[in-house]
Formats: sequence, C-alpha cells, structure tokens
Amino acid sequence: MYLFMHRKDLRGYDLRAFDAIRRRGGEGIHLFVFDPALADRRRLDSHSGRTFLRALARLFADYKAANRTLHLLYGDPGEIAEALLLAMPIAGLVVHADYTPYALRRDARLQLICERHGRGYKAYDDAPLVDLADFDQFAKRSEPYKVFTPFYRMWLGYMRQCYAPSGKTRLAELQTIRKLEGGIDARFRLPADIFSRLTAAAKANASEESPLEQLAAFAESSLADYAERRDLYAVDAGSGLARWLNHGTLSPRLAYETVAGRDGAESWIRQLAWRDFYLMQARQNPDYFAYERLLDLSPLSETYFDAWAEARTGIPIIDAAMTQLRETGELPNRLRMIAAMFLTKNLRCPFTKGEDYFRDMLADYDNTLNRGGWLWSSSLGYDAAPYFRIMNPVTQSMTHNPSGSYIRRWLPHLAHLPDKEIHQPIPEAVVDLKRSRALAIEAYRDILRPSVRPDEPPEE
Ligand SMILES: Cc1cc2nc3c(=O)[nH]c(=O)nc-3n(C[C@H](O)[C@H](O)[C@H](O)COP(=O)(O)OP(=O)(O)OC[C@H]3O[C@@H](n4cnc5c(N)ncnc54)[C@H](O)[C@@H]3O)c2cc1C
Repeated sequence: MYLFMHRKDLRGYDLRAFDAIRRRGGEGIHLFVFDPALADRRRLDSHSGRTFLRALARLFADYKAANRTLHLLYGDPGEIAEALLLAMPIAGLVVHADYTPYALRRDARLQLICERHGRGYKAYDDAPLVDLADFDQFAKRSEPYKVFTPFYRMWLGYMRQCYAPSGKTRLAELQTIRKLEGGIDARFRLPADIFSRLTAAAKANASEESPLEQLAAFAESSLADYAERRDLYAVDAGSGLARWLNHGTLSPRLAYETVAGRDGAESWIRQLAWRDFYLMQARQNPDYFAYERLLDLSPLSETYFDAWAEARTGIPIIDAAMTQLRETGELPNRLRMIAAMFLTKNLRCPFTKGEDYFRDMLADYDNTLNRGGWLWSSSLGYDAAPYFRIMNPVTQSMTHNPSGSYIRRWLPHLAHLPDKEIHQPIPEAVVDLKRSRALAIEAYRDILRPSVRPDEPPEE
C-alpha cells in the first residue's frame, strides 16, 4: 500500500507519479492535506484563496466521477503522514516535488518521518515542461542559465528532441483505499467553515467553463492573435489559464500539446518557457527566495505603499490597474510589470511589500512566478530588467491603450477626459515621474553594488 499526497498537482490525469504507481500496481491512499500554514481563513477569502478552493473542488469532483476516493484532511502534513504510517501498512509516500522554501522544509520533514519509520519516500518532478535534471545534461551545463534567450534556444531544442509527452494513466486505473484506519478521519477532520467554502467553490465551478474547455476555446479562437494582442491590456488577450496551471488543475503538457503546431503558438509557448525559466531558478538559484536577506534594502521605504495598493497614486494607469486587481483578482501581464516597476522604482518600496500584496490579490497567484515577476521588476534575479531602464507608466499607457478606454473603465471619474489628457498624472500625484526615476536609479545602483559576485567581471 502506498500513500500519495496531492499538493500543486490538483488533477486526476497526466501525473508522473500516477504513471509510476500504475506500473508498480497495488492500492493506495490518495490524500489532500489542507495545511493551515499555507491557507489560513483570511487567505481563503482572498482572490487567490478562492482559486485554490475551486481547484481543490475540481480535484474532488474528478475523483468522484472516476469512482475513486480522495481523502481531505486538515492539519500539519508531517503529523498526518506519521499518524497514517503508524495506523496503516503503508510501504511509502509518493509526492510531486516542489521547490519553494516552505515546500522544501515540509518535504524534508516528510522524508525524515518516512525514514524514521522505515518506509520509502519518492518525489517526482512534474511541474515544468522540461525535466530540469535531464535538461542540464542535454545542455551539457553544471550551472543554470542566467539569461532567458540562450535558455529558450536550448529549451526549444530539448522540446524537439527529448520532450516526454503527457502520461496516459487515468484515475480510474488506480486502486484507491476508501477507509482510513485509526480514527484519522475524526482526528484531522476538515473544519465546518472550510467545508462550506469548498461547497461554494464547487458551485462556482459548475457555472463556468472547465479549464480544459477554456484551453480548447483559447487555442481555437485567440491563439492566432496572441502575439499582437497580449500587451493590449484593455482587451486582455491572455488565456487566463495561469490559475489552473499553477495549482496543477491543468497539465502544462496538455496545454503545450494542444497548441503546438497551430498558428500563433510560438509566442504562447515562449511564455510557457518563461514559466520553466522561473521554476528552474526556484530550484537552482540559491538566492531566488533570499534576495531580501542578502541585500541591504534600507535605502527603500514603505512610505507610498498604501497609496499604491489603494489606487491613490494620482498616476491614472497605476490607479486603474490597482483598482482592477482589487476588484477582480485579474491583472494582465503588462500591467503587472508597470505596476510592480512603479512601486519598486518610482516609489522606491521594497519588492517584498508588493509581492505580499499580489499574493492575496491575484486570482492566479503562484509563489514562484510571482517572485519571478517581482524580482524582474526590481532588477534582481536572473535576466531582470536593468536597474537604469525604468518604464514610464504614462508612456506605457499611451502606447498600449492610446484611447484610454482601460482607464475610463476602472476610473470612471476620469472618463470625461479627452484621449490626450487621460494618461497624464494629476497635479497631486504622489511623486514626480522624472525626479523619482532619477532617485530610483541612484538607490538601485547602491543596492545592487554588493551583489556583484567574485565570479562576475569587475566594473570598468
Ligand atoms: C509582478 C508580476 C507578478 C506575477 N505574478 C504571477 C503569479 O503570481 N502567478 C502567475 O501565474 N504569473 C505571474 N506573473 C506572470 C504573468 O503575468 C502571468 O503568468 C500571466 O499574466 C497570466 O495570464 P494568462 O494565464 O492569461 O497567461 P498567458 O499570457 O496566456 O500565458 C500562458 C502561460 O504562460 C505563463 N506565463 C505567461 N507570462 C509569464 C511570465 N511573465 N512569467 C512566467 N510565466 C508566464 C503562465 O503560466 C501563463 O498561464 C507575474 C508577472 C509579474 C510581472
């Protein structure tokens, strides 16, 4: 008997671990642990928390449809695993690997518990499109790529020659155990309020397209124009699939296979490569989750953070974007870049404040990709925006939505302004764009200076 724990792999098809389990045969306990360290009540009521609940409700429904059992328990994963190992004849724990700091600590503990009880522990890589260990061998590198373009070239080569297609194992082919022994169900029961949140999430799912339908509709009707339209944030031509990819509800392989070879696929697949680039960094860049501790961010301050978050900066495109984000949990990629760069550079606020805010607000929040976006905006991490190249939000607004229709939609009190004026800062704007840009360049030059490593060429 095996124990399988779902985490960011909330689906019942194309999972690397499922293929291995089917090959070995035997029955197993399939479990999702509702971990309060990751999902407290406040978080569950946020945009990102609601997406997570919907992803979990979908997984639960998939098990039901396949006539298989998914146990939902509430508590600390280590404690629950140990209780199960003591109560039932489990040979080993099977999971998919995750590389965020919390996940690494949690999984190290799970592995230790298994070893202490003489049971096996196996983690499979599933989230990236390329197998990262195999990719390094293919690229003949011991060091990770630090620049996206050469990474992408090699990534395309790997995908052509070594890509391992979707797994074929279906839930119905696995033997799941219906009953847990030792009173585990009662001891780690889901609290009633969380159960009712899940029920509400299942209802919301029923009234919308499934992720698979959403993928098919996107591939059919929007993919061909994606490259030209992705930055036109007033129409938001993105697939909206990130939320499902991040929880594993949608398999990245299925997404890739659905679009590959179609008109316009190249540009969208490039975005999937960016996703892999950040997943690779989380795993191979030891600083990825540590820049705030490695650098002296004291020249920065939180003075204007509230004005930014509450859409009170006086820069129309920023305030419109922050309004959309707060009200809907949605924000097209270009606006994320503009808003994040404005906060970290013009308002000189530590990136971690914006990162935390996005965690609650984004419907498609993902720890690794969110960090990647914030590092990029604040000129940290691999292949980030150079510190002296700061986007001007007014120019961005005029370029990507000249009519100002986006601002009019989210800031109706400005709707009467003519196209030419609507992009301009109001006289009471919290900062002057030109001066704050110059101050940001000075501040980031100082912040980044100590990050020059001995293996990098010295400055001339
Ligand atoms: C400051 C900042 C924060 C971000 N936070 C998140 C986050 O929490 N979760 C998240 O999924 N993405 C994040 N992104 C990346 C990107 O904005 C979103 O993935 C994208 O907007 C999601 O919309 P979509 O599903 O329509 O993507 P599409 O445009 O349809 O792209 C397809 C897929 O490619 C991947 N992708 C697209 N753009 C990027 C990118 N710039 N970097 C990495 N992968 C990408 C995503 O998996 C996405 O679903 C962030 C970007 C920035 C600048």
